[in-house]
Order: sequence, then C-alpha cells, then structure tokens
Amino acid sequence: MSYRHILDGKPLDLPVGKVVCVGRNYAEHAKELNNPVPTSPILFMKPSTSVVALEPGFAIPQDQGECHHELEMSVLIGKPLKNADEAAAKDAILGYGIGLDLTLRDLQNKLKEKSHPWEVAKAFDGANPLSAFISAAQLADPERTAIRLTVNEQVRQQGNTSDMITPVFKLLAFMSRHFTLLPGDVIMTGTPAGVAALRSGDRLQLTLGDLLSCTTVVA
Ligand code: ZN
Repeated sequence: MSYRHILDGKPLDLPVGKVVCVGRNYAEHAKELNNPVPTSPILFMKPSTSVVALEPGFAIPQDQGECHHELEMSVLIGKPLKNADEAAAKDAILGYGIGLDLTLRDLQNKLKEKSHPWEVAKAFDGANPLSAFISAAQLADPERTAIRLTVNEQVRQQGNTSDMITPVFKLLAFMSRHFTLLPGDVIMTGTPAGVAALRSGDRLQLTLGDLLSCTTVVA
C-alpha cells in the first residue's frame, strides 16, 4: 500500500491505522436518507486497507450498484485516547483534512433491510480516500468550518461543522470510550446532505474552509 499520511506537506512517520466513522451526524443528511436523527452517535469502523490517497484520482467499485460520495472533515490522531474528555481529545489531534466516506448505497440498503452489518458496503479496499492534512494549529475553529464538494463544477455537498449533531471534540471523547484511538488513526466526522452516486470520469473538488482545496477524478 503506497498511501502515507501527509501533514503540512511532509510524509509522516506514523502507521496508517483504523478509520472510525460516525453515521448521521448532520440532521439534514439523516433526513435525506429517511433515517431518524440519532440520540447518540452511530459509530462504525473501516480498516487501514480502506484508506487511499484522494489525489490525483481514486477508483470506485464498478459492479455493486451505486457508490455514493460522503464528504467529511477528517481528523488525524496523534496521541492515544482512551476514555478521554474533550480537552484531552482536542490535545490529541494532529491535523485536519477532508475525505470521502465512500458507500455502496444499494448494497447498504439491502443489508439494512435485513438488519445485517453494513461493513461490506463501507469498509472495502479504497473506501476511504483522504486528503493530506493541515496541522491542527492552522484550523482556527474546527467546530465552525465550512466544507464543500463540487462534482463536475456543480456544488453537490455544502455544510459547516457547526451543524454537527455531536461536535468534533465531544465526538472523539465518545469514540474513545468504545475504541482506543491510536496515533495514525483517522476520524471521519459525518456528512452533510447531498450524497449521490459517483461515476467514472467525475471531476471533484473538495474544500475545507479556505485552508485546503483538493482536486481529483474518479478513475
Ligand atoms: Zn459517512
């Protein structure tokens, strides 16, 4: 696997760990999929083999129905966290980035109907394209930052981390009560509304505030 975490333009000497994700962390996205807004965070994980570089291009599965983009702010963990409080969670964040929680939506819907786990729809190889990270100190307010995705120059997803149901530091603290977070792990913080299918040849631009802008293409 050639992917390595990059922070402020430099490859990091850190393993690529697990990815811990939260479902339905923006109310408008829960509504668009006809899901109830949860009362506590819905967590799931993706393995390190799901992580690939967002740029300059990434592949999607071709034969398993629709593969949806979920634009999400990503968080890179730099210190172990277990049963952490919000202050410790904040202190453990090495950097912020932007990424896609790719989801095989048709497959996920079938699995949900049967009340089966949805791993195969979310955790496949290449399911988590990630940008390079900017160091935590550069992002003035991670809990009030705009994120945006355009597909073929049309705005597809637009949100602000201030709309998260569980904000970033509280979310990490909650996650650390269930799973120990380790240096090199990545947190995906949930997607705003506007998820839709990707097609080969789509040109994407993802932005995090005015600090990070990534251009990529679906192979
Ligand atoms: Zn997601």
